Amino acid sequence: MRTVTCTLCPRLCVIPEGGAGDCRIRVHRNGKLVATTYSRPSAIHIDPMEKKPLFHFLPGSSIFSIATAGCNLHCRFCQNWQLSQRGGEEMEVVYTAPPEAVVAEARSRNCPSIAYTYSEPLVFYEYVRDTSRIAREQGIRNVLVSAGYINREPLRALAPLIDAANIDIKAFDDRFYREVCGATLKPVLDGLVILKEANVWLEITCLIVPGLNDDLVRVGEMCRWIRDHLGVGTPVHFSRFFPMYQMQNLPPTPAETLIRCRDVARAHGLEHVYVGNLAGGTGEDTLCPRDQTLLIRRFGFTIREMYLTDGRCPTCREPIAGVWS
Ligand SMILES: [Zn+2]
Repeated sequence: MRTVTCTLCPRLCVIPEGGAGDCRIRVHRNGKLVATTYSRPSAIHIDPMEKKPLFHFLPGSSIFSIATAGCNLHCRFCQNWQLSQRGGEEMEVVYTAPPEAVVAEARSRNCPSIAYTYSEPLVFYEYVRDTSRIAREQGIRNVLVSAGYINREPLRALAPLIDAANIDIKAFDDRFYREVCGATLKPVLDGLVILKEANVWLEITCLIVPGLNDDLVRVGEMCRWIRDHLGVGTPVHFSRFFPMYQMQNLPPTPAETLIRCRDVARAHGLEHVYVGNLAGGTGEDTLCPRDQTLLIRRFGFTIREMYLTDGRCPTCREPIAGVWS
């Protein structure tokens, strides 16, 4: 039987005629590998940038956000499984939107950037690439929100079109990746370095699941790796797990756990560490790492106070890591 091999991600799926890869949306049709969700988004929204989350990239702006079905990870705690764990054929297609139409719509809604988000944009790679190219030509910036599980070559080809990315590190633990996410850690770390080298603005999200990836030694190792490979100015977002999908048996992440993770990250020298989803806290404020001047006060996804001026701290006048305009 004739097969095709998908070389997009480290799974290297060998797909028989009529079959689909592990992501469910890359299929073998008439001797060709086809992404079934090309131009077929399942979700389109305009979001605040802070929702991605990106805290150091065009703060307060609106971002045109699209997703299709499919994912090449199978995290048992997936917070978005209705979209990610389905194939292109199973999903109701909300819109037909070729790349030109996505960019035109983003422009007409006055969004200075487009996010490829919600599920896993790297599996709808060709749609991201073609849309990004047109957006770039028209001065609209491109943002990936991804688990970063992709091979080096396709990522190197895409990276020059991308302006910013929020990439998950699910745990600094290959075994966790294998057992809980059905993936591996190293390609994610390699991909982060490739994005960094391509000057993509990077922020990292770590969803902390109680008892599974909240070991503070491991969290510390991850923070050291981020510091050494991506830089001390790389924002890290520790986010809270809520019981979901195949992990309904676990409690939500206690606030203290997230605060301990933040303290460990700061102790490893990271300058911008955020804890999300905590009621009433200041865990999402940006402070100057030199003199602790309040630069941005956030509440939920909105900006309440903004003191950053031309990307600099108003007290010490030093630049703050980020893309501010
Ligand atoms: Zn300062």
